[in-house]
Amino acid sequence: MPNGANRIVPGRAKPTMTSPLPGAEPGLYLDANATEALRPEAREAVLAAFDLVGNPASVHADGRAARKLLESARAALAARLGARPENVVFCAGATEANAMAIHGLAGGGAIVIGATEHDAVRAAAPAALIAPVDAAGRLDQTAFAALLAAHRPALACVMAANNETGVLNDIAAIAALCAAQGTRLHVDAVQAAGRVADPDYLAQGASSVATSAHKLGGPKGVGALLLAPEAASAFAPLIRGGGQERGRRGGTHNLPGIAGFAAALDAAHATTCPDPRLAALRDAIEAGARDCGARIAGAGAPRLPNTTCLVLPGLAAEAQVIALDLDGIRVSAGSACSSGKAASSHVLAAMGLGDLAGNAIRVSLPWNAPDDAPARFLAAYRRLAARALRKSAHVSTSAA
Ligand code: PLP
Repeated sequence: MPNGANRIVPGRAKPTMTSPLPGAEPGLYLDANATEALRPEAREAVLAAFDLVGNPASVHADGRAARKLLESARAALAARLGARPENVVFCAGATEANAMAIHGLAGGGAIVIGATEHDAVRAAAPAALIAPVDAAGRLDQTAFAALLAAHRPALACVMAANNETGVLNDIAAIAALCAAQGTRLHVDAVQAAGRVADPDYLAQGASSVATSAHKLGGPKGVGALLLAPEAASAFAPLIRGGGQERGRRGGTHNLPGIAGFAAALDAAHATTCPDPRLAALRDAIEAGARDCGARIAGAGAPRLPNTTCLVLPGLAAEAQVIALDLDGIRVSAGSACSSGKAASSHVLAAMGLGDLAGNAIRVSLPWNAPDDAPARFLAAYRRLAARALRKSAHVSTSAA
């Protein structure tokens, strides 16, 4: 096994500010928006839940013990996210939560989505009308309101925080525009939950909210759709089965995942949210990257504290990601789901970056990023930027 000395035996070691993450290759993990570092509280909750034998749907004592854990996790999540416990629908992650909302609340009517939505939303609503964003990546509210007025859609989908740039939308204002036209609003809050102070988007007027455990330090493969009371009574289930989740999502519960989800969210909010330490590390990275000639996508908008999108002319995003990986720095060229594809970012294209949309990398600090992350990242980034500069100089000399 490569780097065996750095492997951490499950259940023994806990991550610190300086050690590699459990299960991570040695190096610097800066890809939290693809998946966050597992929080120790979540790990403990998952392991404890594995020891419960019962199915929460069973009526006997073991089933009741499992049910008790399920309901306490549900109550904790509901309290943090401003939902009623009975309107939290557990599922396998945010791709599913988004698909459930779109299927369950649009009722076959027209749908409007923001231009920078995640592929989970875009693919679930392929015929949707697209509302543009401004140059900073925020939803253009004037254009959005005009689309609502012209089409009176059944559903609009707008993300709380963008996964590539960290740009935050003003959900309360957007919900008010939707309410004026009788349009339900679905919010993809995957990147915001656990990272912003008040991820209570239902209270801000949304009809439904998608969340995912692994984006806030919980386990992968579990999420929840939160429904406002009115939306809960209108909701049409996508996955039927054994009647779980009040008939809104069939399938045996992923109890360890759900327990880890609730523990991770609690842990995320146990410290200051948004985390000023992460914001300071992010700012240091941006200052150094600017000195290298990079520009920051979305810098003019309110953003998540942990995310920056660095645009470096002269070198394709994939080449940047590979060069940094060879230097032990793990970042991505866009959303995790689109990495590996040659296509450039639809998010940056919507922000008007043109050809530069293919030259951006996303740096997203995990909750336990070490304090020397900027220094280590920038040492590698400076080499990269020098290479990009040489390449641009070569291209202009050959063109001359
Ligand atoms: N929405 C956003 C904004 C995301 O960033 C992601 C994952 O990258 C998803 C939805 C999909 O979440 P999951 O991995 O839980 O299916």
